[in-house]
Amino acid sequence: MAGILSGAPESLLAFVYLVAGILFIQGLRDMTHPRTATRGNQISSVGMFLAVGITVLWFEILSPVVLAAALLVGGAIGAWLAVTVETTEMPQLVGLFNGFGGGASALVAGAELVDQFNLLGASVTLPLGLTATAAIAGIIGSVTFWGSLVAAGKLHGLVGDSPVSANTGHGLKIVSLLVAVLAGLFLILQPEFLGTAPLASWIPSYWALVVAASLLGVFLVVPIGGADMPVVIALLNSYSGLAAATTGFVLNNSVLIIAGTLVGASGLILTVIMCESMNRSLTNVLFGGFGESGETEDMEDIYEGNITETSPEEVVMLLEIAQRVVLVPGYGMAVAQAQHAFAELAELLEENDVDVEFGIHPVAGRMPGHMNALLAEADVSYEKMRELEEVNPTFSKTDVVIISGANDVVNPLANTDESSPIAGMPVLNVSEAQNVIVNKRSLSPGFSGVPNPLFANDNTSMLFGDAKQSIQDLVGEYKERTS
Ligand code: NDP
Repeated sequence: MAGILSGAPESLLAFVYLVAGILFIQGLRDMTHPRTATRGNQISSVGMFLAVGITVLWFEILSPVVLAAALLVGGAIGAWLAVTVETTEMPQLVGLFNGFGGGASALVAGAELVDQFNLLGASVTLPLGLTATAAIAGIIGSVTFWGSLVAAGKLHGLVGDSPVSANTGHGLKIVSLLVAVLAGLFLILQPEFLGTAPLASWIPSYWALVVAASLLGVFLVVPIGGADMPVVIALLNSYSGLAAATTGFVLNNSVLIIAGTLVGASGLILTVIMCESMNRSLTNVLFGGFGESGETEDMEDIYEGNITETSPEEVVMLLEIAQRVVLVPGYGMAVAQAQHAFAELAELLEENDVDVEFGIHPVAGRMPGHMNALLAEADVSYEKMRELEEVNPTFSKTDVVIISGANDVVNPLANTDESSPIAGMPVLNVSEAQNVIVNKRSLSPGFSGVPNPLFANDNTSMLFGDAKQSIQDLVGEYKERTS
């Protein structure tokens, strides 16, 4: 169908799509560093605005009233989410976005099949390229939609997060995959079987494929839980890109192919980085069932009589004589919004000639880069944020480590207990420091649900309390004693 600009030369559409593609690539490039990430986001948004704008003006996709209403409602929901969603809830929001991207791809591919069928009529066969790409987009898009909904539900606590035996779901996964693939093959090959295909067999085989792939998405993600969820979200991000790129082939739309490929590739790179950060192989994440081996040690046995409690006054006494201090933030710091207090403490220590650095674990918090983003918001310079590989060798030369709201990322069980769900995950070796201060509200476990023997170490003292309040207390006490 024709839109307002459809009379313009075809090259205009291609040119605007090309500009949008270049802006996406530049935007992604900028997003690789926290310093330029905001600019990258803005550049990509301009690219998306151009791509959507020219598409809307070129093709008459919907009646202008319906289109305006859809843009208004969608834009309002997006703005509301951007303002209200906490940074700690960002992973599930990303999960939802992935899901909607996948779902949209599956629906658009199906709609294009119906459209082409109506256009060409029952007497001709649909081109192989169209049916094959539509089948692929339908399968990947549906898996992404339902898998992402389950993943987002798990991260938001709406879907049970307890580890489920992976074996239970294997049969269901195989059956749903087979049905989806067979329906896809039927869609692609039916002209061979049936000659010119009646509508009754074209379209239902596509929707049968969608239903089977939807079930596959649910069966794939339900048994996965705990610390593996971030990897699943990153992988589904990649799937949503692949679905979009394939739909780009269905529609013969170059900008959708470019954008989808970029999302697919970057999601895959992120998945690999996260797998490495947690020392899990992708196969193990998808089919291993997190926590299946979990014969974790009893917390009571570990902590009984071995916990030393400390106070802000005692911690500040240690800080007064320290030469090197490492601050380790975690999920609790994000929840308490303690980053400004943490940054102020670092500044005060530096003013007193203490060498201060932040030790950042790649999966601390609830999304990659979570801690970096929060500390940057509190004006901590990037030079002060040390990655795991950089900071680990320095702990033995560190006088005091203050861990605020982190748990799994400093759990030594990852190195010592092969049956632990976090076994092999690289962790910050904080116990090598002379004094370890752990600030959290209780002895309860972190995201993976395993106890942390670090709390019972001889050189560890627990500073119980909310992260923001506790660090502010430290700042107040330190100011008082050093002024
Ligand atoms: P954890 O989830 O292991 O631990 C956070 C700790 O913060 C809890 O033990 C909790 O203890 C404490 N806490 C919560 N609220 C407060 C508060 N207001 N003040 C002080 N402490 C608080 O966090 P980590 O950052 O160490 O580890 C991240 C975990 O999340 C890893 O298992 C990782 O695999 C997983 N994950 C990571 C993602 C990522 O991409 N970064 C995404 C999703 C999951 P208490 O209740 O006693 O206060």
